Amino acid sequence: MTTTQSQTSKPHLVIIGSGWAGFYLAENINLSSYNVTLISPRRTSAYTPLLASAAVGLFNFYLAEEPVRSASRCDLNFVKANVLSIDFTDKTCQCTPAFEEDPKLEKIQFDIAYDYLVIAPGCMPNTFGTPGVDEYAIFIKNVSDAMRVRKTLFDLLEKASLPCTSAERAKELLHIAIVGGGPTGIELTAELDDLCQNELSKLYPRIAKYVTISIYDVAPHILSAYDAKLHDYATSQLKARNVDVAPNTHIERVDEDALYIKDKGRVPYGMILWATGNKNVPLIETVDVKINEKGLKRILMDDKLRVFKKPDTTTSTSGSDVWDSVFSLGDAADIEGQSLPTTAEVAVQKARYLVENFNALASATGTAATSAFAKPFTYSQKQLVSYIGHHDGVIAGKGPNDPGWTGRSAWLAWRSGSLIWNRNWRSRVVIVITWALNRVFGTEMARM
Ligand SMILES: Cc1cc2nc3c(=O)[nH]c(=O)nc-3n(C[C@H](O)[C@H](O)[C@H](O)COP(=O)(O)OP(=O)(O)OC[C@H]3O[C@@H](n4cnc5c(N)ncnc54)[C@H](O)[C@@H]3O)c2cc1C
Repeated sequence: MTTTQSQTSKPHLVIIGSGWAGFYLAENINLSSYNVTLISPRRTSAYTPLLASAAVGLFNFYLAEEPVRSASRCDLNFVKANVLSIDFTDKTCQCTPAFEEDPKLEKIQFDIAYDYLVIAPGCMPNTFGTPGVDEYAIFIKNVSDAMRVRKTLFDLLEKASLPCTSAERAKELLHIAIVGGGPTGIELTAELDDLCQNELSKLYPRIAKYVTISIYDVAPHILSAYDAKLHDYATSQLKARNVDVAPNTHIERVDEDALYIKDKGRVPYGMILWATGNKNVPLIETVDVKINEKGLKRILMDDKLRVFKKPDTTTSTSGSDVWDSVFSLGDAADIEGQSLPTTAEVAVQKARYLVENFNALASATGTAATSAFAKPFTYSQKQLVSYIGHHDGVIAGKGPNDPGWTGRSAWLAWRSGSLIWNRNWRSRVVIVITWALNRVFGTEMARM
């Protein structure tokens, strides 16, 4: 096993994960003050709110992600690896190269030493142990998943168009099942429905009428984070466009071409998309830290995002000690007693807090240095916005007396988010140009 250490006199900041949290930190930390190493199996960071739009061809896939390596920050050190475990006493991360197509590399292990560590490995999709989901469903986490949605959809349309395909079989092939009625599932439904109603009816006039979209959720409502008036509105609008909205639906298993619903039985599908929430990544099981064991397992931190040690049940210590120079961010972590949702909004605000405090720590001298990390992290809640298709959206109210709003202005607020989420100015300009071109000439779907 080899050990990699910082080669400069600057403190070595190691970040685990290149998602919203880790990437924001790596992009904004002062590289003249810190020697920064980002460890992740992915060399890009996905703009997850843009994935559904990219999947249906509203803009090119490359606009929905950002490469970790960039010419403007070539001092940032990137290691394409998975962290297997962390030794908080020796201050090292045990890593293995992450190359799915070259598994023999996974036998190699190496250590990376840190002075400061930020743990941001995110979460993975939760299948709730439903048999067949891992094998047959598509999860939407990265651009490669969005590409798979687009390819699968077009393959199904071509299979359904074959002269040898019966109308009955075409209907089965063109049944798109979306599992999970939260914002991700609903936005996928909305974008796919728009695509079917607009572009596909022109490209596939003979078979477009066979496309059906079902949205399944075990809960009694879709968009259950919104108040009753808004989730009822979303349900009625989707139903009016012939989307099969099926709450109170328990999917028991999935096989190659059908899902099995409790009390209903076999329902054939052509493509199944799974968006039912998060579970912890394997690293969370290995680290010697305090974990929230209820529901989603998350690393617990104090209000300065410092990671708590695992409580020692053999002694009378309170378990409130934190590990030296270890912080955590994003979906994988939560502040003890102040639980926040697993969203990009929360991940970025926490990453911004660390950037400000790490940069203050580096630039301050003497007593000024002690002002870094003096104030706790505070979260500023943004409004919850979801697209429900057909240029319509829902926006949650700001408090009990604010009913929120719906309609075209809600859609515009959601759509403008595509520009706010994307942090690259060049990509923003290309997105605006693509929207204008789509409006005049239709989307680029036919070319994909
Ligand atoms: C389709 C979709 C749409 C969404 N839309 C919105 C939205 O509109 N608004 C919003 O606020 N939120 C949205 N979210 C949620 C948001 O994407 C997450 O909250 C956010 O990605 C969390 O950021 P993160 O950095 O904690 O984790 P992630 O972005 O998941 O990144 C984690 C990173 O860590 C890496 N990693 C994992 N394990 C290891 C390991 N052992 N070693 C090294 N690296 C590791 C992963 O490969 C990944 O690069 C959406 C999510 C999805 C999937």
